[in-house]
Amino acid sequence: MEFTDKALVLKVGAFREADLWVRFLSPSRGALTAFAFGGAKSKRRFCGCLDALCEIHVRVRSSGRGEYLCLEEGSLLAAPRRLRTDWHRLGLAMRCIKFLEAVCPGSQGAPEAYALACDLLRTLEEETEPDTLFAHLFRARASREQGFGPDFERCAACGEPLFHAQNGRGQAHLLFVEEGRVLCRICASRTGAAGRPLQISQESAYVLGPVVDAGPQAWLEPDISPQARRECAAAVDALVRYHLGLAWDRARYRNV
Ligand SMILES: [Zn+2]
Repeated sequence: MEFTDKALVLKVGAFREADLWVRFLSPSRGALTAFAFGGAKSKRRFCGCLDALCEIHVRVRSSGRGEYLCLEEGSLLAAPRRLRTDWHRLGLAMRCIKFLEAVCPGSQGAPEAYALACDLLRTLEEETEPDTLFAHLFRARASREQGFGPDFERCAACGEPLFHAQNGRGQAHLLFVEEGRVLCRICASRTGAAGRPLQISQESAYVLGPVVDAGPQAWLEPDISPQARRECAAAVDALVRYHLGLAWDRARYRNV
């Protein structure tokens, strides 16, 4: 097997003096690991492109017996600059990318995961200082693209819209984490739903619905109220933990 593709470098490690292993995300095949023989020395075949968070063009082939992949060549398409010196931004980027890797291991959903990762890096590179809500909204979006996550736009039982305006006030709705659905108050009191629900205000439903869909630039919106921030963070943490079995622990996602 041999293929050429774009790739986002996730991690690089050395395993012999001149050789490297490279973990990367491909838009057609998901996350893969390949060996770059001579990668630490060959400027001709890998001109400054084997570095975490670089977007590169690669040529990959499988070894003679198909036991592993070899990175034959790589050329640089885009490299982060600000992320290299701003540790806060870099930490946020790595935390988001690691989540993406955890939810998108194979080729299914790989084009969406790749596009989201590139969009994320561009935003962190170019835009104003992101805050911690950014990582939660990223996880909400990445989960949704991989097929998980409730509808925050309409009540799952009656179909009524869950918000009327961005800062619409009014009764809060309820998120039933185990069932993965949001119900309006009226439906929640009628149907016997399992578990203790989390409160989702109209503003939070708006943030977790259209704002998450709008992509990374929209997540820098400074006007989100402290209450909605708390609700959104709690909702995403609970959904990811329950449905994907993932929790952030000591700089990586572990299964819970
Ligand atoms: Zn309803």
